[in-house]
Amino acid sequence: MSSELDQSAIDEVAARIDGELVGLRRALHRCPELAGGERRTAALVAERLRAAGLAVTTGVGGHGVVAVLSGAGPGPTVAYRADMDAVDEDEQYAGEFASQVPGAAHLCGHDLHTAIGVGIAEVLAQLRERLNGKVVLLFQPAEETLAGARAMLEDGVLERTAPQEIYALHCGPLPVGTLAVMPGTGLPGQDRFRIELSGSAAGDAGKRLTDLIDGFSTIRHPQSPGEFQQLLEDLRTPDGPLERFVFARSQLTWTDERAEVRAWLRAWPDSRYAEIRDELRSAVDALPDARITFQGPPFPAMVCSPELSEAAAAHLRGVLGAHAVMVQHAAFPFNGEDFALFLQRLPGAMFILGVADPEAGLNGIPHSPDFAADETAIGVGVRSMAGFLSSRLAALA
Ligand SMILES: [Zn+2]
Repeated sequence: MSSELDQSAIDEVAARIDGELVGLRRALHRCPELAGGERRTAALVAERLRAAGLAVTTGVGGHGVVAVLSGAGPGPTVAYRADMDAVDEDEQYAGEFASQVPGAAHLCGHDLHTAIGVGIAEVLAQLRERLNGKVVLLFQPAEETLAGARAMLEDGVLERTAPQEIYALHCGPLPVGTLAVMPGTGLPGQDRFRIELSGSAAGDAGKRLTDLIDGFSTIRHPQSPGEFQQLLEDLRTPDGPLERFVFARSQLTWTDERAEVRAWLRAWPDSRYAEIRDELRSAVDALPDARITFQGPPFPAMVCSPELSEAAAAHLRGVLGAHAVMVQHAAFPFNGEDFALFLQRLPGAMFILGVADPEAGLNGIPHSPDFAADETAIGVGVRSMAGFLSSRLAALA
């Protein structure tokens, strides 16, 4: 028996709870919690999911919440992950639901992700009599520090819930109402390091090193709307300039006799990190008083399943329209994503949910201080993911 739900039934339930989910997102936006401190957010999520009748476990890998929705009959299990933490910066937004916490703001849209995750659970819970199998919802803490996914995995979340596939959304600067898949690609990993220099020429040497590091970048942060449009187009062009890339940032501080360079870089594919490390080491070795320290091995890239991304694109075009689903190589602004660690363990994919409406001043660019999102994207995320997850239960049955 198929357990794929009618999209019209999903849309109907989603429309009923949409206003309330926007309210939840605003409540989270007002009271952002930083990585590792998601106490209230987790409590709010757990309360809503218990009320919806899901089996809820809290305190998984820190403040992680795991909720299991069981359909009417037996069947496969699929998982969906939403992250909950805020960014440790102030926002420029000053509207009626601006952050009330100095030094913390939902500049990466995890408040939207959390509201969408709750919405998916609530919609599917209302339609559970027509579902066979289980949907596991993972509400993850500490994504911004790339620690939360690892903590939930080490806590044994996959062993206990045994999903066969896993999915997630991240918001991005695509037009609201659209969504992107990244078959076989995804988001770059990240390498972080610092170089300490001493001696009378430390400042000059530091400057040359920052030039070297910045020189690894094959792309730069777009400086104009035209450059930004070009970048989005390049992301969608097969064999285009973003098939391989490096995005680097460095910062130099110095006093008379000491200098320090702190830097991170994001590269696609992952093999590029070893080459860049070699070049950096030889540049540093050539200097008299310099030392480079890498912050552990590079964090791995997030790679989406080609087949499941294509299956998602086909399904989602039926829900959102033929032109509403795009294929791209990565997502601007190329942030690392610790969903990578889930995708190392299970087949699955992450999708980029468009939340931008530039004419309304909503840029949808994660981590920009003026990040702002069109909240109608919440409903789009709920409808598309609830339908897609039920389609995966049917496909795996
Ligand atoms: Zn994020």
